[in-house]
Amino acid sequence: MNRLLVIEDEKKVAEALEEGLTRHGFRVDVAHNGEKGFFLLNTQHYDLLILDLMLPEHSGYEILRTLRSKGMALPVLILSARDSTEDKVTGLDMGADDYLGKPFAFPELLARIRVLLRRGQQEPLTRLSLADLEMDLIHHTVRRAGKTIPLTNREYDLLRFLLENKEQIVSREMLARHVWEVVNRVTPIDNLIDVHITRLRHKIDEPYEPKLLHTVRGVGFILSEKGNAHGLA
Ligand code: CA
Repeated sequence: MNRLLVIEDEKKVAEALEEGLTRHGFRVDVAHNGEKGFFLLNTQHYDLLILDLMLPEHSGYEILRTLRSKGMALPVLILSARDSTEDKVTGLDMGADDYLGKPFAFPELLARIRVLLRRGQQEPLTRLSLADLEMDLIHHTVRRAGKTIPLTNREYDLLRFLLENKEQIVSREMLARHVWEVVNRVTPIDNLIDVHITRLRHKIDEPYEPKLLHTVRGVGFILSEKGNAHGLA
């Protein structure tokens, strides 16, 4: 069930929204001011925010700005009596996903909510790649230059982590934690990691150019197309 937060100070409008949206199968929380709205946004998970612009204390714009500056990506639908084009543009520029002027027809609000929720459902990740190296996450296969490369499960997990963090340095500690699921790292796991890196490098890099898996001395490893240019091993 999708969870919606409504930030709206007009009690009658808020009640009508809560009632109507609940009837259509949403779980709805209502905040009558920005303070409570912020509190709920920080403590609960929501799939969509319906935000009034004219609020006491914090305006809807302020809430939107704070939300986006914190990197919160939830879809925001602005609901406002301020229906001028300028307000719409401001709202959308500040990171709102849609804007509906008051008064509005409830079916239109529902339709827009559905669109935003659909858009919010990201396509599941099905493949990772770097240069001509490709990993198919559904079939668990790896290819380089179109040729299938057989990997053990551990090598596959290792390569997946490196691909997920491509062009970034990955330390042995990160690999121990995320690929080997070892919390308290001891020396032997480092050797094990190095052995697997060597084997993986042999399989994905040895017959190919450019080399992708590089050692960053004293730090860890990087899967990068530009490794040679950085003078890495
Ligand atoms: Ca208001």
